[in-house]
Amino acid sequence: MFELEDTYVELSGRARELATGVASYANEADAMLTVHPEMAAALRGSGLPELCVTAEYGGANERIDPLAIAVVREQLMGVSAHLDGLFGMQGIGSYAVSVGGSDAVRKEWLPKVAALEAIAALALTEPEVGSDLRAISTRLRRDGEALVLDGHKSFITNAGSAAFYSVLCREDDGYSMVFVPADSAGVSVTVGPSLIAPHIMGEVVFDRVTVPEEHRLGTPGAAFKLMLATLATFRVSVAGAAVGLAQAALEEAVRHTTGREQFGQKLAELGPIPHLLGSSWVEVESARVLTYKASALAAQEPLANLDYSSMAKVAATETAGRVTDRCVQVMGRFGLVSGSTIERLYRNARPMRIYEGGNEVLTGQLSKRLAKRLGY
Ligand SMILES: Cc1cc2nc3c(=O)[nH]c(=O)nc-3n(C[C@H](O)[C@H](O)[C@H](O)COP(=O)(O)OP(=O)(O)OC[C@H]3O[C@@H](n4cnc5c(N)ncnc54)[C@H](O)[C@@H]3O)c2cc1C
Repeated sequence: MFELEDTYVELSGRARELATGVASYANEADAMLTVHPEMAAALRGSGLPELCVTAEYGGANERIDPLAIAVVREQLMGVSAHLDGLFGMQGIGSYAVSVGGSDAVRKEWLPKVAALEAIAALALTEPEVGSDLRAISTRLRRDGEALVLDGHKSFITNAGSAAFYSVLCREDDGYSMVFVPADSAGVSVTVGPSLIAPHIMGEVVFDRVTVPEEHRLGTPGAAFKLMLATLATFRVSVAGAAVGLAQAALEEAVRHTTGREQFGQKLAELGPIPHLLGSSWVEVESARVLTYKASALAAQEPLANLDYSSMAKVAATETAGRVTDRCVQVMGRFGLVSGSTIERLYRNARPMRIYEGGNEVLTGQLSKRLAKRLGY
């Protein structure tokens, strides 16, 4: 696949239109730890969150399409991390409900996710547990007909603004997932911390939170696979966002270096600067092609193609890191000004190498899988 089909080109155009419409307040929104109401309203009005839910429950497509999500995130992230996060998390936070939720929970909640009337969140990480998710301590137990949840989830995107949390927990000797409405008794949230790239985020404590059995997501004790399927479907969309961010940084650097002269020449023609810009273009285009391929594979079968999603995530986020760093460099002091576009892109690139699978964790897994493929 070398060219996007028309439906994806059209989607990308819709996303670009949305992003352009909110660009004037992107800096303000990207500094917030809570939802920017005007930006959320613009996203709602675009109808794009419908991509995060299946058609049966008010969504756009019969199945959730990772390529559609990736091309949209590519456009949104170049303009606003806040906008990208609001969009992406509707899918990431609700996927386990779409795939493993009871009919009652799906019917009640997924149409609200599709319409951005309910904000979704996925709660995996804990204060002591990040990459090594099998070490979590949040516990679920049965109490008669009900389920009781105890634990502390950390660095949860949308905490405090979410309408519900899809929570990974231990149950007996296995792992389960459970759907917890944010207003359940025993749920408490502390918003923050504020990161170098601020994010709607917080700590969520579940203190004897009781929900009905029908709030279970997936098979009791065997929901780790459901959580992995979520990551397999959406990891590649982080790659899409990273490509869009890198592209935006590169365009900013080209604009600056072709418009400013030193030593009687345009910066874009001086010393290593053309090579830095040219190499960046090569890397962005390479990451984009891999991202589209991995997204198309994830659309066919997410878990079976997890290797490609991981490769694309690593390639695109490392590219975004390198490219934004170079762009700041070639823009000199103007690249350092707080509130400037390039400064915001530089900061926003950084967390992407850590979340949705730390890049070192992913390359470590890829190395093992490669050896296995080659028969060692
Ligand atoms: C902006 C942001 C949003 C987030 N949103 C959410 C959310 O919505 N829900 C949620 O559950 N979590 C969320 N997180 C948490 C995120 O998932 C974790 O930060 C991530 O899983 C990494 O865990 P950690 O930060 O504890 O790093 P650690 O696991 O402590 O890892 C530290 C470093 O060691 C490396 N490392 C770890 N293990 C290995 C290994 N086996 N081999 C090689 N290298 C290794 C990592 O790559 C990393 O570089 C978010 C984080 C950020 C920054």
